[in-house]
Amino acid sequence: GPATPAYDIAAKILLIGEAGVGKTHLILRYVDNIFEPQLVKVTVQPDVKSKDLTVHDKKVRLRIWDTAGSERFRAINRSFFRNALGVIVVYDVTDKNTFAKVKSWIEEVDVNCDKQPVVILVGNKTDLAEQRKVSTQEGRELAKRHKMMFMEASAKTRENVNDVFFELSEKILENP
Ligand code: GDP
Ligand code: MG
Repeated sequence: GPATPAYDIAAKILLIGEAGVGKTHLILRYVDNIFEPQLVKVTVQPDVKSKDLTVHDKKVRLRIWDTAGSERFRAINRSFFRNALGVIVVYDVTDKNTFAKVKSWIEEVDVNCDKQPVVILVGNKTDLAEQRKVSTQEGRELAKRHKMMFMEASAKTRENVNDVFFELSEKILENP
């Protein structure tokens, strides 16, 4: 008979936020379970990686889009945002400036996405506890103000990395 489809739903997910916050490392940790501190990757084209997961009884294929460095020049193509169902806005908990810039990234989503995606705010690099400059409370409040989900994570230790993608997927499935 006909082949069983590999998944029930495919969802385009974006990671945005200032350069250096750890977007690429979060993706590599989640998809390939690696962390290479010295990795430097700046390309013009966005990188897309696929990851399958099961959320309750649904098979989900995430297509995870990485800006791959173009955020440095605020040169993200509009097609990057097109049809995104989920957005992960990342800041670095050790860098106040990256937290201050979150609002401008939310505006990019508002301007460029036709249908409002599910958005989660992620404070990355929790492993650098002694250098922390943005409290959990500040992150949570900003997320609440802009109706985003919220989580802190570390691409280095893997803390909450799976949960970020899982909870985002869960919300996307609830949000047809
Ligand atoms: P991007 O520009 O947002 O894609 O950031 P990258 O993924 O390239 O990461 C920028 C730098 O932060 C790299 O030197 C990474 O090794 C480092 N980095 C990323 N995630 C973490 C983390 O969770 N903890 C620590 N300590 N460093 C991280
Ligand atoms: Mg990157």
